[in-house]
Amino acid sequence: MTAPADLLVVHAAELATLATGSVPRRGAALADPGIVADGAVAASGGRITAVGPTEAVLRSVSRTPATTTVDASGRLVTPGLVDPHTHLVFAGHRAQEFTMRLHGAGYAEIDLVAMGRRRLDRMLAHGTTTVEAKSGYGLSMADELKILRATARLGASHAVGIVPTFLGAHAVPPERKADPDGYVRDVCELMLPAVVREGLAEFCDVFCERGAFSIEQSRRILSAAGRLGLRLKIHADQLSASGGARLAAELGALSADHLEHTPSDDLAAMAERGVTAGLLPGATFFLLHQNYADARAMVELGVPIALATDFNPGSSPTFSMQMAIALGCIGMRLTPAEALSAATINAAHAVGRAADAGSLAPGKRADLVIWGISSVAELPLHFGTNMADTVIVDGRVVIGGGRTT
Ligand code: FE
Repeated sequence: MTAPADLLVVHAAELATLATGSVPRRGAALADPGIVADGAVAASGGRITAVGPTEAVLRSVSRTPATTTVDASGRLVTPGLVDPHTHLVFAGHRAQEFTMRLHGAGYAEIDLVAMGRRRLDRMLAHGTTTVEAKSGYGLSMADELKILRATARLGASHAVGIVPTFLGAHAVPPERKADPDGYVRDVCELMLPAVVREGLAEFCDVFCERGAFSIEQSRRILSAAGRLGLRLKIHADQLSASGGARLAAELGALSADHLEHTPSDDLAAMAERGVTAGLLPGATFFLLHQNYADARAMVELGVPIALATDFNPGSSPTFSMQMAIALGCIGMRLTPAEALSAATINAAHAVGRAADAGSLAPGKRADLVIWGISSVAELPLHFGTNMADTVIVDGRVVIGGGRTT
């Protein structure tokens, strides 16, 4: 008895499954993409039903007139990329936004959704099928809720899967500069409970940095979020060693992101507690900084690593996880296989989606990318060029031949 397949991808030169282990990959495990030569994937009802050598997969499933078969001869096939750190939803750019606020204008939710949709289309065309999206450009109860409601609307209507994060503590808004602790109190006592009441976020994040939020303030916000049942993330040590990574270890955050200035003791604390390092090389690159986060030290210390775009208007306006992979290799000395692990299965773990995304295994969402290259080793070579030819979400071809289908 063979199960009928809706979708068959066959004869991949390299099928990178990323399908070992139920915890984030560390150390040597990062370098094993789980390659199947002449590989195939079958899916039914949006879920993967079989993965393996083409011959074996074809024996285990049956084709019907409704089956879509994609020949991936000579090509690399990977899981859909997971972007675990973006600031997806904001209006215009910062200067404009600030002027708007001076004039008392709020965000229109409908405009936010339209802009978010165009950005998600670009990300999808570059092979990203799951995205974490932070609020944080509202900085008032009304505007933060509006951004998160727009995010929820995008999640319900776009092929890309969205993981929403509340980042009300992105910055102290200009009108609250005289009393930052008062703003922190509002985040803890007013904004967080409202966000949780509406079910608008899975994660809470804080920008922990001199000029933004101190360790003490960050601890207060993240502890309050944890008590309300949110999982935790933190922007840590981007511009200075501020203790953010250590705080992430103390609180058991799922990830600490940036880490350009994290001392090795604090990296060791992350490894010990299993906190994933969110690497954001696009920000280092675009800010013209020289010091990429020390990914090699992280791998050596056993810190799980994930790669992300940090898509945002100010410091990393790229949509492309392919660029994050290339910069992870060029700037941080990751190998292509390590970078792929960081951009798929480990990124999925970092956003709580490892049961659904990040690897090719039976039961998972059938999200995959068929590339215009033949091996994992080629992934960073054509930096700045979109090499994703076909993108499949939930077993449906959504981008084919580089175009939306
Ligand atoms: Fe960020």
